[in-house]
Amino acid sequence: MTDNVHENCGVAAVHIPDGSKFQGMAPNFLYKLLMNLQGRGQLSAGITTYNPLRPRLLETHRDLGLVTEVFKESNPDEQLKIFKSLAGNTGIGHTRYATCGADDRDNAQPLERTHGRRWKWFSFCFNGNIANYSDLKKPLVEKADYHIMFDNDTEIMMHYLSRELQAKSRPDMKEVFSSLAKKFDGAFNIAFINARGTLIVLRDPIGFRPMCYGHYEDVLLVSSESNALANFGVTDIKYLQPGEVLQVLEGKIAIKQLVPSKKQARCMFEWVYFSNVASHFDGKSVYLARTKLGEELAKLETLPINTNEYVVVPVPDSAKPAGDAYAYALGLPSREGLIRNRFAGRTFIEGRSREDKVRNKFTVQKNIIEGKKVLLVDDSIVRGTTTRNIVKYLKEVGKAKEVHIRVSCPPIVAPCFYGIDMSTITELFAPRFKIDPKKPIEKTVLDRMAKELGADSLIYQTIPGLARSISFPQEKLCMACLNTDYPTKQGNLLYGTALKNAMNGQKGRTYEKDKDKGSC
Ligand code: SF4
Repeated sequence: MTDNVHENCGVAAVHIPDGSKFQGMAPNFLYKLLMNLQGRGQLSAGITTYNPLRPRLLETHRDLGLVTEVFKESNPDEQLKIFKSLAGNTGIGHTRYATCGADDRDNAQPLERTHGRRWKWFSFCFNGNIANYSDLKKPLVEKADYHIMFDNDTEIMMHYLSRELQAKSRPDMKEVFSSLAKKFDGAFNIAFINARGTLIVLRDPIGFRPMCYGHYEDVLLVSSESNALANFGVTDIKYLQPGEVLQVLEGKIAIKQLVPSKKQARCMFEWVYFSNVASHFDGKSVYLARTKLGEELAKLETLPINTNEYVVVPVPDSAKPAGDAYAYALGLPSREGLIRNRFAGRTFIEGRSREDKVRNKFTVQKNIIEGKKVLLVDDSIVRGTTTRNIVKYLKEVGKAKEVHIRVSCPPIVAPCFYGIDMSTITELFAPRFKIDPKKPIEKTVLDRMAKELGADSLIYQTIPGLARSISFPQEKLCMACLNTDYPTKQGNLLYGTALKNAMNGQKGRTYEKDKDKGSC
């Protein structure tokens, strides 16, 4: 992925049973899980734990920065202090990238709400995006006299959660979340803990985002991605199904279907780009999906390949499996003509323009591509600006003779309202060419697109090729940004708004239409 597209977020949870040799070590387990979920969000991180022996039954530590920064990896004494303050047997954790709300500490998760009654004192975090959050906010402000401080979907969720807990007697937490799931439209994988030590993990009924669990010895580990569990040595990894809830109540673990899952729509982008390449999403390997995408792409190749002239260069890192498989299928070498600088973007010397950013992010290996016809394999083109600069870089600095772009994902023609930060039509590259996602793209259109990117040719993956690669039936995947078939009512409504906004030249995230401050 060459464009800067981000996702919100990574979620983890831990429960250590009484008598375990790991007593009090929930923060240690959560820290390691979050380190493995860092790829899902680098803006902030946080942990909440429960400990009945502490005056503060719930304790939260959260801040802006990478997991190692928030939990002071470079200062062992400080880290020990934080872990001591968080010692407990049950907890939740989060890494965040903002698709809604400003980038400040107040928006870091988990979000804790204190209360004198233990079942009303809770903390929670989530992965996704509430597409109808503007509609949920309206009655709070207009009818119930709420003051909305941060104006993001997490705050709105907190108010709805609090309202479900308003009754005088302690409610069944599964009923609370069942009621909430009916009110929310969008993607919402939630981890929740209260000051009674009850832990709830919910996957939304559409199942946009992954959520899995397993045991390390006697410790229950829950994570957005399976790689985090695999790195503990967990071999029996299970996947929370759409609409299912995992509950730990008084030490007992139960998994139940909380709300019926009438329509399932797993985000195809998890396999294409977002998930860690070592993860499995609902049992389907991300790595294998990416290699199959490369093989499918090779079937679409139209150039008369001459092995001496051509070299395949995958855009590191996420396009590497597709690039390697594409090259292998065509009998071509796959070479690291672009080297990724892992620390770019976190340095004050980074330039301001896109061109500077590309040149700070990647190093071109001239000795590999000079005089060659480069088949540049990327996993997607979202905005196109970075792709254009990479092509320029390969030609100007790398002295490539030609650059042909091969994209392992079909064209992104519509916004996402479910947690991937591309919510307007005007920011996207493909809609400018009026592509009909139901038909093959005409050669003349592909040529115009290639020209716009400064490339010599362009080939995109097809939608059936993508579904075959993931090996899930198309009707169980979300491909709304590729075919405009939004799996929820609010998604369809927001797409109408996005089309109107594009015509009127309005900017700003579509699902934050009535927000008047900050970045959302
Ligand atoms: S619209 Fe696209 S990016 Fe968003 S959830 Fe659906 S497939 Fe994923």
